[in-house]
Amino acid sequence: MEANQLGDDLKTVLISEREISDKLDEMARQIERDYEGRELLLVGVLKGAVMVMADLSRHLNRHVAMDWMAVSSYGSGTKSSGVVRILKDLDADVQGRDVLIVEDIIDSGLTLSWLLANLRSRGARSVEIATMLRKPDAAKVHIDVKYVGFDIPNEFVVGYGLDYAERYRNLPFVGLLNPHVYEK
Ligand code: 5GP
Ligand code: MG
Ligand code: MG
Repeated sequence: MEANQLGDDLKTVLISEREISDKLDEMARQIERDYEGRELLLVGVLKGAVMVMADLSRHLNRHVAMDWMAVSSYGSGTKSSGVVRILKDLDADVQGRDVLIVEDIIDSGLTLSWLLANLRSRGARSVEIATMLRKPDAAKVHIDVKYVGFDIPNEFVVGYGLDYAERYRNLPFVGLLNPHVYEK
């Protein structure tokens, strides 16, 4: 789906398809270097990370294994609480493995901080994070994130996997919605 087919839903394109692709290249080269000679398991967090996982993995000139988790964060309304429930667990056993969590966005960081602890407690050899987007001003907990695509302002974004009411995930770019979309 392209920007001009969105009517007036979209306020601005924050990060273009081209910028995303260039960034994925950069991230992929770093990951190749850092994990040289080691096996790597990419763990995507459903559903938002589907685009990043698909594209990042194709930018990598090496073998990787891929697995998925789905989690839901208990909390009131749209804010995450840090209390996490596993909706779909990994198929893989991470014991002794190098794991790279692939995420769409880090907002408060509460979900990821729980996920990090969870995967480490299963005996992974290493657990690192690659995220396309991060909102530094929204962080409630400090997390060391090894690979970050873009730091963005503390605003609600959609596209490239990210939804509003399950729409807009298939946009190939990251954008801001016009307020009338929320007010409907
Ligand atoms: P947190 O880091 O607060 O625990 O939660 C991260 C999750 O909240 C993301 O995986 C994503 O599903 C959702 N989220 C956070 N910020 C945004 C945003 O700006 N836009 C959209 N569409 N989802 C967001
Ligand atoms: Mg996510
Ligand atoms: Mg969502």
